[in-house]
Amino acid sequence: VISLKDVSKTYSLPFGDVKALKNVYLDIMQGDFVAIMGPSGSGKSTMLNLVGSLDVPTSGSLFIDGTDIKKLTDQELTSLRRDTIGFIFQQFNLIPLLTVKENVEYPYIMKYRHADNEGRCEELLFRVGLTDQMLHHKPTELSGGQQQRVAIARALVNNPKILLCDEPTGNLDSKTGAQVMELLSELNEQGKTVIMVTHDQNIAEYAKRQIVLKDGEIV
Ligand code: ATP
Ligand code: MG
Repeated sequence: VISLKDVSKTYSLPFGDVKALKNVYLDIMQGDFVAIMGPSGSGKSTMLNLVGSLDVPTSGSLFIDGTDIKKLTDQELTSLRRDTIGFIFQQFNLIPLLTVKENVEYPYIMKYRHADNEGRCEELLFRVGLTDQMLHHKPTELSGGQQQRVAIARALVNNPKILLCDEPTGNLDSKTGAQVMELLSELNEQGKTVIMVTHDQNIAEYAKRQIVLKDGEIV
């Protein structure tokens, strides 16, 4: 579902350029579960941002679902991102003023221009191991692990093929982190392609494949 061909990413800064990724080739198949590892500054987040089309390569090509993203208009790219990819972050990135239900529903409303009336949020909360008692709570009233489950429910709301996770357990204790990883593994078994950045070897063990970056290259 994802293919990087000779992809490089250079950030231009006033005092010189930073080559964050250098001539990377990578193919990720539907149903894969990939951990991206490597030291700080090795290019992990850069790679995930490119894979999620949040950023564009300086050179080389990125194919998502067979489409060369260079060939898409901004509007097509926005739809592709919204419909194909779910994002999960270390800091959960829930919107604090919205309730759990409103957070989960948000990408759905952005897509369909109407709220969900069919119990989709309740079903998703159940799927990530939360009860619908939490629907009307604000994120700050939940534990870290519960917030990450809400964020995963939100990532699933438009039924994406691909889940991208940047340090999904980075803000969780090891027991809660393991539970969140069990959930991601379960989603992978149900067919989601999961691509995850992590520093933690124990967390990387949940993946089917580990890719190690060093100085912007796959080693
Ligand atoms: P960490 O484990 O600390 O999160 P990382 O492997 O995710 O590190 P990246 O964030 O991808 O590393 O950064 C790779 C290189 O690109 C680093 O040298 C970083 O300083 C540089 N870099 C990343 N983002 C930018 C940016 N927006 N502007 C300029 N340089 C950047
Ligand atoms: Mg990073």
